[in-house]
Amino acid sequence: MKYFSTRDKSKSCTFAKAALSALASDGGLFVPETIPEYSQSVKKSLPTMQFCDIAMETVRPFVEPDIPVQVLEEIVHSAYTFDVPLVNVGGRNVLELFHGPTAAFKDFGARFMARAFSYLRRGENRSLKILTATSGDTGGAVADGFFGVEGVTVTVLYPKGRVTPLQERQISGLGGNITAVSVEGSFDDCQRLAKAAFSDAELTKRLYLSSANSINIARLIPQAIYYTAAAAKAGGDIVCCVPSGNFGNLTAGMYAAKMGAPIVQFIAATNINKTFPVYLESGNYNEQVSQATISNAMDVGAPSNFERMKSHWTLEEMRRLLLSGYVTDDETRATIKDVFDQHNYILDPHGAVGWHAASTFLQKGLVKKAALTVLATAHPAKFAETVEPITGKIPFPKTLQDAMQRSIKSTTIPADINALKELL
Ligand SMILES: *Cc1c(COP(=O)(O)O)cnc(C)c1O
Repeated sequence: MKYFSTRDKSKSCTFAKAALSALASDGGLFVPETIPEYSQSVKKSLPTMQFCDIAMETVRPFVEPDIPVQVLEEIVHSAYTFDVPLVNVGGRNVLELFHGPTAAFKDFGARFMARAFSYLRRGENRSLKILTATSGDTGGAVADGFFGVEGVTVTVLYPKGRVTPLQERQISGLGGNITAVSVEGSFDDCQRLAKAAFSDAELTKRLYLSSANSINIARLIPQAIYYTAAAAKAGGDIVCCVPSGNFGNLTAGMYAAKMGAPIVQFIAATNINKTFPVYLESGNYNEQVSQATISNAMDVGAPSNFERMKSHWTLEEMRRLLLSGYVTDDETRATIKDVFDQHNYILDPHGAVGWHAASTFLQKGLVKKAALTVLATAHPAKFAETVEPITGKIPFPKTLQDAMQRSIKSTTIPADINALKELL
């Protein structure tokens, strides 16, 4: 597969180049030349395929020939060692994407990416330096995914005081090849700093730099797998409701649909950082300053994948395939309570945003007739501060218990590119 920058379709590059350079030199995001389609026989056999087989069929056309099939088999089988259950909750399906080591869906992208990078950098003698900005969950997933990977060091930028104590320990507790940096500013500041570093000629010459954000195509592609797997398990057409921040997850879902997974509609749910729902409704795209909410992994006022979505789909095409709405913190809390009271199921705040947006569109009669699937993007224990006052004590997965024992080792810098350059 060849890749282009969203800003210049005249020069193409390989998957390896797109993955390892993260942003194109013109500041654009890499997009595949085409979105491949599943073969008829794959589409027919989906309901009986295993997760890793679906993973192979989904990822292979995007990464060949840079990652050969046998290497991809190893990557996929060692990355996806956990369950991806589709659970019935009050007549809807909830796709639980939080059974990986950091208890959020970002494990799918990060674990693939760490293994792919380790393979793609072979033959290079400088160590590969991953720089990534996080609103909370990416940092933990990337730190965990890359921890101990030879030849790769990772620097994670996170907004000081705006991530949970558990998230902070997941990001900063590992040490080793992982450096945690708390930035005096918002997530948008962190993202701006990372982007500035990637377009800094001096830095990119001196360091072998790459990113692990959802702007990186190598993280986005493997996220398409679980959409197809969800449709396969449901055994027919599905509607997917996606709690969204940077819109990488949604873009991956739209790739899966384009490949031929039977997803007939998406609902893109945000918290009050409603740049995208406003755009879909009005046609006007106005980035906002991000506001803090209880679904903090979605506190994004300038969704970085918007540019990628625009390069694939027009506003009209998006309107045909997507609904989008936003949900307040009060509605999110009320939803956690309702779903717990009525169905004895505990949603995390992000999943609750999705659940509530789906309910609103169901009431309006706008949701297509197909199995409604809400993506549960994080385990509720990750957001115990918010969830436990509503539901009472919740069980913590072992991986999170372990992370809570770690101590915080991080450096604080102002939201200033020179401070970051010095540190790097
Ligand atoms: C990152 C994250 C999101 C948002 O995903 P995007 O791909 O940035 O839209 C939603 N929920 C959780 C729990 C997350 O960690």
